[in-house]
Amino acid sequence: MIPFLRLTPGEDNADVRVAVDRVIARGWFVLGPELDAFEREFAAAAGAQHAVGVGTGTDALAIAFRALGIGPGDEVITSPLSAAYSALAVMMAGARPVFADIDPERLTIDAAAVEAAITRRTAAIMPVHLYGQPADMVALSAVAERRGLGIVEDCCQAHLATCAGRPVGSYGVAAAYSFYPTKNLGALGDGGALTTNDPAIAARARRLRNGGQTDRYHHDEFGVNSRLDELQAAILRARLGWLPSWTARRRALAARYRMALEASGTIDVPLEFDAGHVYHLFPIRSGARDALQARLRAAGIETLIHYPVPIPQQPALANERPDDCPIATRVCAEILSLPLHPGLPDEAIDRVADAIQTARIES
Ligand SMILES: *Cc1c(COP(=O)(O)O)cnc(C)c1O
Repeated sequence: MIPFLRLTPGEDNADVRVAVDRVIARGWFVLGPELDAFEREFAAAAGAQHAVGVGTGTDALAIAFRALGIGPGDEVITSPLSAAYSALAVMMAGARPVFADIDPERLTIDAAAVEAAITRRTAAIMPVHLYGQPADMVALSAVAERRGLGIVEDCCQAHLATCAGRPVGSYGVAAAYSFYPTKNLGALGDGGALTTNDPAIAARARRLRNGGQTDRYHHDEFGVNSRLDELQAAILRARLGWLPSWTARRRALAARYRMALEASGTIDVPLEFDAGHVYHLFPIRSGARDALQARLRAAGIETLIHYPVPIPQQPALANERPDDCPIATRVCAEILSLPLHPGLPDEAIDRVADAIQTARIES
């Protein structure tokens, strides 16, 4: 069996246990020294001035929108191909997600489609750095600047990624990260953070995550209760040191997949548009996707589909405008994520690539 993922700690196991023991021995579990230290360390790693730890990546997005004053009556233009949480976060802030279709090759939001979707109500653009590949931030920044709009970057799949040599998250006014266990930097539970270079946005986000309190028991505005707890912050500090080598390993495994799959020419492998891609996932495309997935399953290879449904077609968004996104709709029918995580040996990549070729020859 080649499982899609392995979530138990590996080479970081000893570091994680030391971190957990330290927090338990201290006896302080919410809003303490581990979170303070993680926020400093993560901001530095992400190339940002400030990081604010929150409960989830979804909350990081929603709190970022609220800290920017985006809410009812506003529209946020985003990608139809992402975890639905990207759009749900817009709705949590009281605003409305508007979908601009993706670039058919890069699979991230298309700058020309974004520009065409701008209305008087547009308050921000939210690109998603999907699968670890940065969106075209050069083109998107040009649109945002020309139209006087802010960018909030969904970096939930793109820890340490860069675009045109510059860290993702540094193009926008704020960015959001998830530390859900499957992410490139994962906690042993839920977690998230938003980053920004604006001290006022960081300060407001710190209030909003803590019930809108200024002083203890004094709630100045309607906030939420969404804090990255001390155990998760300590675990994330321990893992942050491993992240550069894990990222390098992801890139090496992706290069091995490319070498094997592109040489055979039997399967469509989405291109790498930027050397700053961090390979959260390794998707391929096939017109016979479901049959291929079944063949791989029969060969003991676990794959997943990211994502089977374009966000605007989710019933949960039935009350939003049903933007037509034909490219995303087609990609959702063809995309298939292969196993890729830093603990995977080279041989597993070769076995998966062989199985794909065999499946194609037989079908
Ligand atoms: C995981 C993810 C989210 C949501 O993060 P949670 O921590 O699960 O709330 C949002 N956007 C993208 C692109 C994601 O991959």
